[in-house]
Amino acid sequence: MIRYGQQHITQADIDAVVTALKSLNLTQGPYIAQFEQSVLAACGAKHAIAVNSATSALHIACLALDLGPGDWLWTTPNTFVASANCALYCGAQVDFVDIDPRTYNLCPHKLEEKLIIAKNLGKLPKIVVPVHLAGQPCDMAAIHALGQKYGFKIIEDASHAIGGQYKGKPIGNSQYSDITVFSFHPVKIITTAEGGMALTNNDNLAVRLGLLRSHGITRDASLMTQDMDGPWYYQQVALGYNYRMTDIQAALGVSQMTRLHEYVTRRHEIADQYNQSLAGLPITLPWQHADSYSAYHLYVIRLQLDKVKRSHLEVFEALRAKDIIINLHYIPVHTQPYYQRMGFKQGDYPEAERYYQEAISIPMHPMLTQDEQDYVVCSLREAVTS
Ligand SMILES: *Cc1c(COP(=O)(O)O)cnc(C)c1O
Repeated sequence: MIRYGQQHITQADIDAVVTALKSLNLTQGPYIAQFEQSVLAACGAKHAIAVNSATSALHIACLALDLGPGDWLWTTPNTFVASANCALYCGAQVDFVDIDPRTYNLCPHKLEEKLIIAKNLGKLPKIVVPVHLAGQPCDMAAIHALGQKYGFKIIEDASHAIGGQYKGKPIGNSQYSDITVFSFHPVKIITTAEGGMALTNNDNLAVRLGLLRSHGITRDASLMTQDMDGPWYYQQVALGYNYRMTDIQAALGVSQMTRLHEYVTRRHEIADQYNQSLAGLPITLPWQHADSYSAYHLYVIRLQLDKVKRSHLEVFEALRAKDIIINLHYIPVHTQPYYQRMGFKQGDYPEAERYYQEAISIPMHPMLTQDEQDYVVCSLREAVTS
């Protein structure tokens, strides 16, 4: 069975986890800070807050930016539901901006058109969440410029994108955003089983994210409203959650981070090979912007349905019948029943919907062997040409 994505666990990873298990702290120990430092070293932001998932990171990122009832958060429909749900957790409302048909990322031109309308209606968003689909960064300079002009904050959902670059600098440096979020779910670039992280260059946001991660409780005297009663003392100064990552997970993360560069390099080799061997087939290959060095979390092809005899579903089934577990990223969020109940409907975001009719994520992960990749290429060729 060949899967579209898969983790890679080495003996060094296992040893790191065992060491953490045998240590005094299974949670809230030294590996958390070490993991945060290793991600900062790779990504170049000032602060990192490790949490138990990217979903949690998105939630506390919204809270740290004061999203609440009466506010709007805008994101792309072509994402995992978590990028939008984070607004609803805060009692805010969600709206979407359609995708660029080349990158499949949130389109900055459509964003500006929508901002002009929203400004006239007095309904400008407080936060925009661009998602770096498949690991290819969004047009962050354009989105950031619009943020300056229309006064919204930016959370980069970089769940797919650790190890990638934008304009030659690492994704996560948050140069064009307030907060960047990573996911360490097993299918992502590196894993902690479950896990996420929020990165920021803003000192105040870092303090707030740190509080929100753990009940709003602090042991830092400078954040307290009165003197400490004694060494046991802590204060709850905000309403936070238990979104902490364990030390066992962080130890795995530290070990995985040592191979980040290797993983992304290997993903590029696989992508280059797909680009060559799939050229000429009736499929659209993933177009890459010149500013982008993708982390290649996914390799997404689009079927040119007017030239392929089979339907999208039939191509899916043909490959799955050959034990190639392909997938589709993503079902447009606004077409989910939960979102339809809010008034969104089919037809609202035609580019994202058209993409959904044609897209397939084919196997892309560092464990993929040459033989497996050849088998995927052969099977796909047969499925789209016969
Ligand atoms: C995986 C993913 C998430 C959620 O990540 P978790 O760590 O599983 O919570 C959010 N957004 C995007 C774009 C993702 O791919």
